[in-house]
Amino acid sequence: MISCKKLISLQDLDLKIDSVRAQIEEKKQKFARMQSDIQEEAKLNEKKSALLKKIQVRKRQFESDLNVHTDKLKTIKLKMKNAGVLPSVYVALEKEADTLKKQVDELETKIIEDMEKLELLKADLDKNEKIVNGRNEHLLLVKQRTQEEIKKLNGEIEILKTQRSQETLSIDTFILEKYEELRHTKNGEIIFGVDILACPKCGMGFSAGFQNLLKSHDDGEFCPNCGVFLYWTGNRE
Ligand SMILES: [Zn+2]
Repeated sequence: MISCKKLISLQDLDLKIDSVRAQIEEKKQKFARMQSDIQEEAKLNEKKSALLKKIQVRKRQFESDLNVHTDKLKTIKLKMKNAGVLPSVYVALEKEADTLKKQVDELETKIIEDMEKLELLKADLDKNEKIVNGRNEHLLLVKQRTQEEIKKLNGEIEILKTQRSQETLSIDTFILEKYEELRHTKNGEIIFGVDILACPKCGMGFSAGFQNLLKSHDDGEFCPNCGVFLYWTGNRE
């Protein structure tokens, strides 16, 4: 026979403390998720920004190649206009000019393609940067609000803890130690009023002997399997 009923209000306080702690944890996790989502978004922007720079460098190279080729082409055309040029040289110059024209065309196409890519990327980056900035501002507000809420919840825990230590004063040391031990090893409830013939914590069915023992008094017994406090609340024949 264990007088465990005094523990019921202590357990109520502990369950309240658990619930407040869970609320704090949830708020922290929610904030952390928001933060990591924004970081992911910012990383993606960094990648796009790196791509943009790469294309800008490439385009500059194309432009400089285009200048070189255009100059060469001008020089060749001047040579071809020269009255003294030999027919065989003229043919060679003409061939070279054709190759250069083709290269100039190709470079011009590439430059236009890159310009289009850059335009799209820039628009995309501007939009995303605005989104990330907006989200960061929002995150700052959420951070402040979360900190305030957590501070308030910690205050609630302190009050509950004070009530708890007052509550423990009237509890027998052996029972209290047993209770604290169970609190450390098990989650949630550890005292149960039962009107069924099985332990609500571990699910084990009670033997006939244990049923009789439990039903024989108003106080509690330890579950023979998992050790939680049990007291009978059902009918007594
Ligand atoms: Zn049990």
